Amino acid sequence: MNYCNYCPGYCCYRLEGSMLLLSATDINRLARHLRLSDGEIRRRYLENKNTFKVKEDGSCIFQAPDRMSKRCTVHEARPDQCRNFPYDKPCPYLKREDLLAEIAPRIEQGLRRAWGGSHK
Ligand code: SF4
Ligand code: SF4
Repeated sequence: MNYCNYCPGYCCYRLEGSMLLLSATDINRLARHLRLSDGEIRRRYLENKNTFKVKEDGSCIFQAPDRMSKRCTVHEARPDQCRNFPYDKPCPYLKREDLLAEIAPRIEQGLRRAWGGSHK
């Protein structure tokens, strides 16, 4: 079973000490997908030279805030690190209660905001 299809994308939330690292190839792939220049991708979506901006809850700027699965809005053009994780091994997030406990409130916070605060 591919758990990623049913997962809210725990790996798309930034944790202290970890960061999504982008290559020039990643940026160019995304640029072609969104029909923008590489420079425009960098200007709009990158926080610094090497990584995407994140939203207030720490989620990747390309993660849809209003649904619980299939949340990557650029899935076809996602960076290599997103494609390759978890590197043919069992996903570490699904086994680590400490990581889930850290990220779950952020998911709820994002959903509450996206749904207008009606789901407490
Ligand atoms: S790699 Fe793990 S955390 Fe990321 S979407 Fe797949 S199952 Fe979820
Ligand atoms: S590009 Fe997509 S898969 Fe990668 S971190 Fe962002 S939302 Fe997640």
